[in-house]
Amino acid sequence: MKNKMTVALIAHDNKKADMVNWAIKNKTTLDKFELCGTGTTAGLVSEATGLAVKKYLSGPLGGDQQIGAKIAEKKIDIVIFFWDPLSAQPHDPDVKALLRIAVVYDIPIATNKATANCVLAAASK
Ligand code: PGA
Repeated sequence: MKNKMTVALIAHDNKKADMVNWAIKNKTTLDKFELCGTGTTAGLVSEATGLAVKKYLSGPLGGDQQIGAKIAEKKIDIVIFFWDPLSAQPHDPDVKALLRIAVVYDIPIATNKATANCVLAAASK
């Protein structure tokens, strides 16, 4: 039986710096969780924090869908998803599907730093 909750990290290109800075700031807390993420985001967070982050495919190449599938399998407990509200994404249908499946399975999905802070604080108690 797994005892650590799993957190998925995803950030669109214009939000990757925010995600990396947020992860650095919250490194000690994030270390209490199993981490995974879309390819580029996972690599950047892992490199910046030294934490192990399981890499799925890059978002536009199917990573969002892989994470959605893991949510449906109840293998992901929390999603931190810094999506870009100011740019069109080629994989917009996948983004919508991920947001939808998180709601279907009633898991916390934080889409900005303020919410991510709340979710992380609540989940790490
Ligand atoms: P990436 O994917 O972390 O591989 O860039 C994120 C996304 O655009 O969904």
